[in-house]
Amino acid sequence: MSTNLYEAHNLVQRYNGREALNVPHLAIGQGETVFLTGPNGCGKSTLLRLLAFLERPAGGVLRYAGAAEGRKEATLLLQDPYLLHMSVFDNVVLGLKLRNQKAGLRQVFESCMRAAGFDDPWNFPERGPRELSGGERQRVALASRLALRPRVLLLDEPTANVDAASARALAQAVKNCKIEGITVVCATHDPALLRAVDAHEIRLGTAWDMDSPD
Ligand code: ADP
Ligand code: MG
Repeated sequence: MSTNLYEAHNLVQRYNGREALNVPHLAIGQGETVFLTGPNGCGKSTLLRLLAFLERPAGGVLRYAGAAEGRKEATLLLQDPYLLHMSVFDNVVLGLKLRNQKAGLRQVFESCMRAAGFDDPWNFPERGPRELSGGERQRVALASRLALRPRVLLLDEPTANVDAASARALAQAVKNCKIEGITVVCATHDPALLRAVDAHEIRLGTAWDMDSPD
């Protein structure tokens, strides 16, 4: 049994007094690949933000057993990721530049673009975000996350708005993460992605009933 990287008990998040998430118990092992499934509004994106330590929970306990602060080790890729108005190359290596890394940026660019499913990384470095398809943008954003060598990769419906070829490339990227030992937590209800990757599925509860009284 692997060591748990995350453990949560009675984890609750509320917005404006409304419960957005309620997870009695959750355990995610180091290096594990996990799919978060469940209907719209059941709290998948909310849980990902909590796992990224971008928000504090309203109640309960969330423990992270990484060596350092979880926020620095986990990176969240949003459903419609935002690329900066700079070249693809600069988008991918920006995080490393901010960490003052100057050497080896070309190798990082090439390997991370390949890991994100680009067979021809050097066709892309000078392009801007507007010269990419939705699927290519999603994969460049993934490459920029991989460049940071995260311990945990949090993906929010990565294949929701992409073409079939990009969806297959993203499935392959998730599989590669497992081989690399990166813990992946991926919200999705894409049947093709669920079929393509051998992963533990965590199904969140039913959607919050918008009309029910508090
Ligand atoms: P999912 O990703 O599974 O569709 P979300 O985590 O986005 O679900 O949302 C769970 C519930 O919390 C929904 O009812 C949603 O409207 C609500 N919610 C999510 N984020 C916020 C927010 N920032 N402010 C208010 N309500 C929110
Ligand atoms: Mg969501």
